[in-house]
Amino acid sequence: MKATLVIKGISNLITLKGENRPRVKDDLKDIGLIKNGVIALQGEKIIYVGEGELPPTITIDDSTIVVDGNGKTVTPGLVDSHTHLVHGGSREHELAMKLNGIPYLDILAAGGGIHSTVKATREASFGELYEKAKKSLDKMLEYGITTVEAKSGYGIDDFETEIKQLAVANKLNERHPVDVVSTFMGAHAIPKKYKMDSDKFVEIIIDEMLPEVAHRGLAKFCDVFCEDGVFSVDQSRRILMAARSHGLIPRIHADEIVSLGGAELAAEINCITADHLVAASDEGIKLMAKKGIIANLLPGTSFNLQTGKFARARKMVEEGVPIAISTDYNPGSCPTENIQLIMSFASLIMRLTPEEVITAVTINGAAALGLEREIGSLQVGKIGDIVIFDSPNLEYLIYHFGINHTDKVIKRGEVVFSKI
Ligand SMILES: [Zn+2]
Repeated sequence: MKATLVIKGISNLITLKGENRPRVKDDLKDIGLIKNGVIALQGEKIIYVGEGELPPTITIDDSTIVVDGNGKTVTPGLVDSHTHLVHGGSREHELAMKLNGIPYLDILAAGGGIHSTVKATREASFGELYEKAKKSLDKMLEYGITTVEAKSGYGIDDFETEIKQLAVANKLNERHPVDVVSTFMGAHAIPKKYKMDSDKFVEIIIDEMLPEVAHRGLAKFCDVFCEDGVFSVDQSRRILMAARSHGLIPRIHADEIVSLGGAELAAEINCITADHLVAASDEGIKLMAKKGIIANLLPGTSFNLQTGKFARARKMVEEGVPIAISTDYNPGSCPTENIQLIMSFASLIMRLTPEEVITAVTINGAAALGLEREIGSLQVGKIGDIVIFDSPNLEYLIYHFGINHTDKVIKRGEVVFSKI
């Protein structure tokens, strides 16, 4: 079997080998580390992973790209399973308000926050949104992200803008090396027009928007911002159940600020993930563990909102909840594409070990997008999405924080980023 790409002499090859399912408890630490590792690809697929030299059954010739992995740490491509990638504008003008200690829900009530992004996104053309999101995607790739989830949700009641966001995400998925998986999130905020009758907007989402999004094949998932003053548990349930009946997979922004019962709802209706969970109750965490619902944790958002409150990651791990970690890249509460920084936050602030962190952004991140059979670990038959970090070991990657450790990124068997 001829290899088209080989990485040899890898100081630390982190394979995440094992079953194609989200890892829990002690399995989160079982990263399948191989010292002096070698990996071979043919086209976009992995054909060999092992230690030392390639076996005689795998051949190379002049056309094979051979990369030296000495002194490097190699991992599966990182999966960012929660972002608001496509949007207009930016919100640096809110920094002063934040520094004055004004809480997010107050900024929101004053017409700021998401409402200002909604305005900018509505005003932006398809081309403008595409170019802005592409720039972010280029940055994400440089940080080692090879698959990203992208939500709509800045059109809200302006359905045309919702469609425009999803169309941009789909176009980027076609053209950009990074795979972009789309989520419809019309239920991201209560539009001003429906402030006094939010049920009416829920009806519009269910009766008009969801069928159209599903019919046009624009999204794989449906998400809801279940929060005090946004969508109630009952409204979220109705939207997500309707989404499922149209073939969209439910996920949920749950218990970010107030312990509302979002984690419990995620378990009740089998969401693929519940995200944020800063205020999730003990009971909610237990139910998620029981049902195997992935907790998608976003420590960058807690950091940036300066609440001092982070999701109880250690408790979740102990209870057996599968955890993923994502950037939550968005223009308001987490304006960064730097998933490596978020990984350091996950460890330094949420007390996860480097092994748990890398699992959370690879195989568990893949599972958070229903892609654990294709990506997320380096095993024969899987897609060759690989990051080569200029880092002598995994701990160093987490410890030396805030910088970009990426040396090369391989997407579907091709080198798509290389540090100069
Ligand atoms: Zn979000």
